[in-house]
Amino acid sequence: MVVVMKAEATDADIEAVSERARNAGGEAFVSRGTVHTVVGLVGDTERLRAVDWRQMHGVDHVIQIGKAYKMVARDLHPEATTVLVGPTPVGRGTFTIIAGPCAVESEEQALIACKAAQMAGATILRGDVYKPRTSPYSFQGLGERGLEILQECRAQTGLPFVVEVVDVSHVGRVAEIADCIRIGTRNAQNFELLKEVGLTNKPVMLKRGLAMTIDEWLQAAEYVAQRGNSEIILCERGIRTFEPATRNTLDLAGMAVAQHESHLPVIVDPSHAVGKRHLVAPMALAAVAAGADAVMIDVHADPEQALVDGPQALLPDEMVDLGARLARVAAAVDRPLNR
Ligand code: PEP
Ligand code: MN
Repeated sequence: MVVVMKAEATDADIEAVSERARNAGGEAFVSRGTVHTVVGLVGDTERLRAVDWRQMHGVDHVIQIGKAYKMVARDLHPEATTVLVGPTPVGRGTFTIIAGPCAVESEEQALIACKAAQMAGATILRGDVYKPRTSPYSFQGLGERGLEILQECRAQTGLPFVVEVVDVSHVGRVAEIADCIRIGTRNAQNFELLKEVGLTNKPVMLKRGLAMTIDEWLQAAEYVAQRGNSEIILCERGIRTFEPATRNTLDLAGMAVAQHESHLPVIVDPSHAVGKRHLVAPMALAAVAAGADAVMIDVHADPEQALVDGPQALLPDEMVDLGARLARVAAAVDRPLNR
């Protein structure tokens, strides 16, 4: 990294920065310009990064040269990673459909949605039992009973499932039961939760935070990897912008950037990105064409009665129809649908 000193920085300020770099196991190279002096720091990056150079006297700003994440970065790991969710691979060699209810509401509702997902070609189910709702008066999820229903859906379809955790206290139990643990957009920078799922031996799906830069998203993934769990799937689900016509703005370019910067699989959730049923299929098709490793889609047989996210849920028939179209686009871009 490079520490840029203020024009008025004194020799003592410059020496203090250099001395601190040496104490942190690094070396300092001073270049004096006519106005600004810059101090180049090399050495043990982790220790050098742990210092807040900006608070030292005479420092103007700091330029980071390397990336703030390394375990999830492609630089040191050029091969794309494939993550196994149960028996289902999610990665570059294939294309995966993940589908199911947004929330588990009852056994019947979840089974209908999961069976439609399977008919559509999904090889991973979704369904949530802890719902992070904006209002405390909205349906919060079935909790433990919901986990039993998801196990029944898995037993009847033979497909693995992903479920969200919203609190550290859920992680142990969900890790025992589920095939993949999801961190939702609202908790994408809940660092204690990230550390906790990083200690489990189940794959983790990490959604991009509502207002997170790609760099912050990858640093969040680094928290999980750094605790020992490198089975991570990144999920772009739309970001908050000034545009109210869709629920969020699907950042497909962001998905492609994440795939370029990281070796981890990157998938797209068009349902939560657009929030409107008629826009889910076009965005799902665009995602696979653009190289998404999977899409994750909400399904509900009676969306008007849904307790969560009815307006964006596909009907079972619509899901089956979309599955066939996704398979055709996936084949056209050499990403055969995994079955
Ligand atoms: C969800 O997938 O049901 C969900 C709550 O998504 P997000 O965290 O992206 O809002
Ligand atoms: Mn939802």
